[in-house]
Formats: sequence, structure tokens, C-alpha cells
Amino acid sequence: MIDPQRIWNSKHLPSLPSVAVELINLSNDPEAGVGEVVALVKTDPAISAKILKVINSTFFGVSSRVTSLERAISLLGGTYVTSIALSFYLSASASTGGPMAEHYSRYWLQSVVHAISAELIGKRMNDRTESELFLSGLMMDLGRLAMLKAIPEEYCRVLNAVVDRGCDLFEAEQEEFGFDHAEIGAKLMETWKLPESLRELVRFHHIPPELIESEEDRPDISIIRALATASHVGDLFCGENTAQAFSRLKKCADNYYGMDETALADYLHAVRQRIEDIADQFSAQANQLCDPTEIMAEASSQLAMVAARENVEQLKATARYQAAIQAKQEIESQHQKLQEHASCDPLTQVFNRVYFDNALASEATKCLRSAKPLGVIFSDIDQFKKINDTYGHQFGDRVLRRIAEVFQAALRPSDVLARYGGEEFVVLVSNPTFKGLQKLAERIRQRVADEIFEFDERTISATVSLGAALDVPGRKCTDIGARVLAAADQEMYQAKRDGGNCIHVRSLIDDSVQRLNEMVNQHRFSRWLVSQELLDVPTVSQALVRSGGLEQLIGEMAVERDILRPADVDLILATQEETAQRFGEAGLQLDLLEEDQLVDLLILQNEDPFQLANELARLNLLDATEVKCALEAYITTRSQVMQSPANRRDAAAEAVSQSHSEPIPHS
Ligand code: GH3
Ligand code: MG
Ligand code: MG
Repeated sequence: MIDPQRIWNSKHLPSLPSVAVELINLSNDPEAGVGEVVALVKTDPAISAKILKVINSTFFGVSSRVTSLERAISLLGGTYVTSIALSFYLSASASTGGPMAEHYSRYWLQSVVHAISAELIGKRMNDRTESELFLSGLMMDLGRLAMLKAIPEEYCRVLNAVVDRGCDLFEAEQEEFGFDHAEIGAKLMETWKLPESLRELVRFHHIPPELIESEEDRPDISIIRALATASHVGDLFCGENTAQAFSRLKKCADNYYGMDETALADYLHAVRQRIEDIADQFSAQANQLCDPTEIMAEASSQLAMVAARENVEQLKATARYQAAIQAKQEIESQHQKLQEHASCDPLTQVFNRVYFDNALASEATKCLRSAKPLGVIFSDIDQFKKINDTYGHQFGDRVLRRIAEVFQAALRPSDVLARYGGEEFVVLVSNPTFKGLQKLAERIRQRVADEIFEFDERTISATVSLGAALDVPGRKCTDIGARVLAAADQEMYQAKRDGGNCIHVRSLIDDSVQRLNEMVNQHRFSRWLVSQELLDVPTVSQALVRSGGLEQLIGEMAVERDILRPADVDLILATQEETAQRFGEAGLQLDLLEEDQLVDLLILQNEDPFQLANELARLNLLDATEVKCALEAYITTRSQVMQSPANRRDAAAEAVSQSHSEPIPHS
């Protein structure tokens, strides 16, 4: 960045002689007559000579030689006269030797190209603005001259960067200085007290096409468009990035003047021809301008190359993206394989012991939080050594694999089956009841016993001994998983002692909790629906899989329903601390809760009747009116606990829209 003040403080800034300034003002004064212009020009013999030279050049194509300044000025008009005077001073300013000479001559040549291109567009539009456009075009890059003079070193750096990188001059200026030559030019014209309208045009000469469109309502929009087009012609002839200039020029030419490429080529040839005609008088080095046909061909091939490069880049980017996706998928699948490998028993493809131990620990934590029971089945194949010894290990392996399949088929998806050791399998049973666990163990035993294993056309059978245990974790109970597993293992040994091929189930739940659990189970809405013969167990189970309980603490639920006061909850919690009882137990003991209330609260915690009702209706398992009636009848039979607060009902209704998977209790 650069402080623009450095430019304004520079003593090298170009200045205009007062004659030029006054001429510009006169050309913008509609009242001014030719006489005033003539009088002013006559004060400067050099300009007078120049005007006569120009009027007699091929540029204006006057048939007979003009010798009188009055006639020359009236033929040219005030604005052209001003332009000639101005060009005289500006070209003198721009003609220097030394290392900067090239930059100066380029600037001046481009200014002349701007003037001519703009003038020819004016002629095309036939709206008598060509002399104004000529003048504006000439002044367009005044800011470049100012910067070359005031901050030569820094500006040279920018110009060199433009050459090296083929980038846009305006962008490079903005990047390096934080301002560009359009701003500087307009500001310099202000210090010269040139008319606002002219300054505006200079300020606008490089605005992007989309902004030009947004200025459509301006009265001078046609001049702004012409200058923007002229600016691209200048960049095409004299700039570094001919491809970009050509592409922009084509757009302007087409959008503003309906020129196709042939018309554009004709226009560019006309521009070049006119510059050749004027070159001498305007001190422009026209021989440095290339042939428009060549420039257009060069720009077109550059554009094609840019498009091809973009296409290649696009292809490369797509390939990179696809490779990244593939790598990600490979990593994910490797990760999944590793995980499966780490958690899977290779022989039977069921989970291994490591996985089971983790699952047991996390289920125990969940049960502790929600006061739900935890159940485990431990099984051991009877006389398996004998099978191995008689039929060989390979056959033994097949038996193991088949028994694992039989187990899996007897379980729900939410249960976890694992091979615990040699011929021992364990099942983590979610949300069990004592009877449910018993039924499940028996079902497995029966199915294994029914299975026929074939070997060399001989058929054999195998049996398993199963032990099962369940418990509801008490408060502060940290080892419930291990305790239930050990109990199931002991029960399995008991089954072995009883001769094998049988089951033993033990409940570790103490009697009062057991009784409470049974009551909770009996009075659930799902059970009630079955007992009323409104639905059968498999149907209600479908809805139960999706519906769940409130997952809220008993104390909170009780306060919400005005069954307990917050102070009661505190008292119960304090008692719990001392006695390690469960919340409900302590509440009952302190006579703060009644058994029925506690049962209903526990029901809600396990199974929200509102959610279940919604789920039944949503799955069309029961007609909506029937659901409503059933729910109302059920709630009437229960205590006020079931009078769910409105917000709970809303939450329940909302829960219907989300799939909430909760295992069906083994009951
Ligand atoms: P019990 O009724 O008392 O359980 O008798 P058992 O023979 O089943 O019990 P024991 O513990 O004496 O023998 C277990 C056998 O299981 C011994 C072992 O070779 C076999 N075994 C363990 N793992 C595998 C295995 O991966 N494949 C095969 N084929 N056999 C296995
Ligand atoms: Mg064993
Ligand atoms: Mg065994």
C-alpha cells in the first residue's frame, strides 16, 4: 500500500498550462462562441500551428488547404481544438528518454488508441458525441501519467509485474497501492479544475460490465459504454493480456453495438488506420501497433488455450476429488474391517468376548440410569469334547458355527450374542423380565436340541446347558454387569449338575423391587391393550420397538405432576445417600410416595402411553379414534400420574415423527 498523498505532494506531477485548462472549460460551456476559442488559441503560437497542421492532415479530410485559424477552429469545433491542445501538452509530458521512455510512450500510444476508438464508436452511434468521446479517451489514462511522474519506481514495479504475470493493470495497481489510475486521473483533473462531467467519465472508464449495467439510468450511459469499450481496445492493442482484453471487448461490442467478429475486425482496422492518419500530429508511434487481424487471431488462440487449461484443471480437480473420495472410502472400509476383526469371533462370526465385556459395561450403565433390569444368559455345549473326539475338530467347528446360528435366530436384534470361550456362548438380553428370560433360555435350549448335525451320512445331535440371571442395579451399584454374568455362569453349572440340556434362571432383584417390576409390567399400556383384546402381542410389539419411555428421573416426573414437592425430592435424595436405596423405595419408606403412584411413574419411565398411542396410529395398527378411546380409558383406570402435562404430550407427539428404537421387553 502507498499513501496517495505522496502523489499529490510530488513536484513532478504533470501540470496543464492555463490555455489548455481554459480551452477545456470553454469546450464544456454551451454559451461559449468560436471567437472566444480563437482568441484563446491565438495566445499560444505552438498550439495555433498544431491546429492548422491537424486540420490539413488526412485525418479530417478537408479538401482545400486551410490557412486561417478561425476557419480551422470552426471546422474542428471547440472540443477537438481542446483535444489537440491537450495532446500537445500531454504528449510533451510523456516524451522522455531513459529507462522509463518505453512506459511513457506506451501510455501515450494507448491514450491515442482510446481517443480514436471512442471517437469511432461515437461516429457509429451518430449522436454527435464523437469529439467529446475523443477528448475523454485522450484523458482516460491521465492517472498513469501522474503515477509515472510522481512515484516512478513503485509504478514501474507494478508495470513490470503486469508484463511478467500478464495480469490486469487495474488489479495490479489496487493490489500494490490500494488505488488505481482511474481514481488518480479523476482526482488530478479535479485539481486542474476540469469539468465534473469529464472527471466522472475518467473515473468510470474501467468499471466492470455488470456495474455498467447497474448504471443504466444515467444520462451519459452511452458515453460510459463507449469509453469502456475503448478501454478494452486500448488493452488489446497495447496491453499485456490480449486474451482477456479481446474477450471483454467482444462482449461489449456484441452487447452494446451488436457487432459480430467480422464487424469488430472492421472496426479495429478502422481504429488502426485512423491512428496512422493522426500519428504525426499526435506524436503517437503508430508503427508499434500490430495488425488487428493478427491480434485477434493471437487473442483467440490464447483464449482457446486458457479454456483448454481450465478444462484440464477441471479434469485434474475432478480426478483429485475422486481419488480423495476413494481413499476416504478405503480408509473407512479398512477401519470397519479392523473394527469387525477386533470385535468378531472368526470361527462363528458372532461377537467376541472383548466386545461382549464392553457391551455389558455400557448396558449396565444405561440400566443404572434408567432403573431397567439387566439380563445375561450363559451357555455351554454339553459333552463337546466327546463330539470333537468322535468326529474330529473340523466337525466340532461346524457344530459350533451352526449352534451360533441357532442362538442368533432365537434372539431379537437388540440382544448381543458372543462366543465367550471355547464352546461357551453368552447373550446380553436387553430389558428382560424374569419370565421373558426363562422363555428365551428355554427356546434356545429347545432349538439346539432339535437341530440335526450331519456327518458322513450319520446324524448327531447336541445339547446346551444354560444359566441366566437378571438384576435391576441399585444405587451406587458399580459391578452389576459382572455380578449378573457370574450369577448366570453359576446357574449354567447348576444346569450341568442337573444333567445338562436344561436351564436355570435366577433373579438377583430383591423381592420388593421384583414385586414393583411385576406391577409395572402388568399395568403398562401395551399390556392393557392386549388384556382388553384390542391388539395381540406381536402387533403391539411393532409399535413398542419405535416408542419409548420418558427417560426422565422419577423425582423430576413426580414434581412435574404435583405428586412431590421439590423439598420432598431433596429429602428422598438425602435418605438415599444414607441407605443406598433406590429413589422409589426411599419415597415409599418415607411415605412421600404411594405404591400406585410409583408404579405409574415407573411405567411412564419405561413406556410412555402417549408415545405408544401415537405410534399405533402412525403405523395404522389401530384406528385413530380407537387409539384415542383406548388411551382415555386406560388413563382413567390409572392415577393422576398418567395425566401427562401438555408439554409432555407435545413432546410425545413430536417423538412420533422420529424413529425411536426401544427393544421389546422379554415378557
Ligand atoms: P461339559 O458337558 O462338562 O461341558 O463337557 P465338555 O466336554 O463340553 O467340556 P470340556 O470343558 O471338558 O471340553 C470343552 C471342549 O471344547 C474342549 C475343547 O477341545 C473344545 N473346544 C474348545 N474350543 C474349540 C474350538 O474352537 N473348536 C473345536 N472343535 N473344539 C473346541
Ligand atoms: Mg466348557
Ligand atoms: Mg462343555
